[in-house]
Amino acid sequence: MKKCVVIGGGFAGLTAAAYLSNAGHSVELIEASPKLGGRAYSFQDRSTGDVIDNGQHIMMGCYKETLKFLSMIGASGNIEIQKQLDVIFLKKNYQLFHLKASSAPYPFNLLSALLHFTALSRTNRLSILKFFLKIFLVHPDRLKSLSVKQWLQIELQNEETIKSFWEILTVGTLNTSTEKASAKIFSDVLKEIFFKGTKSASIILPLKGLSETYCGQAANYLSKNDGIISLSEKVESLIFDVEKVVAVKTDKRVVENFDFVVTAVPFYALKKLGVAEILPELNVNYSTIVSIHLWLDINPLEEKFYGLIDSMIHWIFNHGKHITLVISNADYLSIRDKKEILEIALMELEKFTSIKRQDVISSKIIKEKRATFVPSNDLINKRPSSKTKIKNLFLAGDWTDTGLPSTIESAVKSGRTAAELIRVSAK
Ligand SMILES: Cc1cc2nc3c(=O)[nH]c(=O)nc-3n(C[C@H](O)[C@H](O)[C@H](O)COP(=O)(O)OP(=O)(O)OC[C@H]3O[C@@H](n4cnc5c(N)ncnc54)[C@H](O)[C@@H]3O)c2cc1C
Repeated sequence: MKKCVVIGGGFAGLTAAAYLSNAGHSVELIEASPKLGGRAYSFQDRSTGDVIDNGQHIMMGCYKETLKFLSMIGASGNIEIQKQLDVIFLKKNYQLFHLKASSAPYPFNLLSALLHFTALSRTNRLSILKFFLKIFLVHPDRLKSLSVKQWLQIELQNEETIKSFWEILTVGTLNTSTEKASAKIFSDVLKEIFFKGTKSASIILPLKGLSETYCGQAANYLSKNDGIISLSEKVESLIFDVEKVVAVKTDKRVVENFDFVVTAVPFYALKKLGVAEILPELNVNYSTIVSIHLWLDINPLEEKFYGLIDSMIHWIFNHGKHITLVISNADYLSIRDKKEILEIALMELEKFTSIKRQDVISSKIIKEKRATFVPSNDLINKRPSSKTKIKNLFLAGDWTDTGLPSTIESAVKSGRTAAELIRVSAK
């Protein structure tokens, strides 16, 4: 049995810690904040008493690592998985469009979803279909120097198709614009979602607040395996001796006598730990997500969630009297004050639904300025792997080289990879 220190209690750190303790190692997880969850957590809203998420999180059927992790910690019952892709889209003046897989066998069920998606003209649907059919013919190396926008233009996707389909998909999966996103990572995401079976394209939603969905279960799993979680303790630096980390200095103590360390913090936080020389030169930019929580007197919405076409609001999630509007790729809103954001959002909501501003009885706006990293070509070509030149130090976090965008799945995969590398090194 080896002693392992995991720094950071988001999805990546919790996954690394869970797999390490599952392999019989002794684990201590150190988290700076008073709660687990990192960028994916829930809390009790003061004015309404309701538990709300810092931002609605969607998972997908292709999140294989996440599903395995949730099952390992006994949290599979806390999520709801669609049988197959089924999303309602809204256009202005309450127009509804269904993107729904049919009962035909895969892949014809997904094909039929696209062909019957009447929010787009028939010509544009056929043009999108042509694009999908060609996706495996493009050499991945060619995409590493193209943005999504450039790729779409080369493949003759017109402005209308880009605006009403590809931008929605790019912002929804990568939280950035078609101009900034790498065509390579977009192509990989499309392959994962649409070319790995019916289930991969289905949407998964948490049934409870995020913290209750997985943080509590992960903490229980660790404590059952004699793991320790230290909250409200910030790691300040790592202390090296030749080729090893020999101590972890926190704002409360110095931790020594361990075998392995996993850092599971964002890149900007890692840079502060005195590990500059082992880090690659990376230019990591971040993208904002704004979540607008509204409590309604009467809620006319019937579906659990809606995607919006040609709107600054990308998604509406319906929790009954409480709804959440999600605005992704929202750096342009980060300097606006919350009153102003609420005003703009309500005006937009009135165009797409029958909800009126007088129906809103309470609101809360959360801006997450570093919600996700921007998956530009420059960054994705340089992401470091979990293994470092320091023998007992491993990196985790959604930004490490998982091949995936800044998502829960990337964080979980990185945590599992770090734990696996330790399992091999510990032999
Ligand atoms: C509003 C919002 C909506 C999102 N929506 C989705 C979605 O729909 N689907 C999806 O898949 N992903 C979504 N994401 C992205 C997803 O939340 C992240 O990719 C994922 O949670 C990252 O996990 P992580 O463990 O890598 O990092 P983090 O969650 O950032 O965890 C890092 C942890 O390290 C801790 N830490 C930092 N420095 C130190 C230190 N010095 N000492 C100790 N601890 C430290 C932090 O406090 C934090 O708890 C969204 C993110 C946001 C913010």
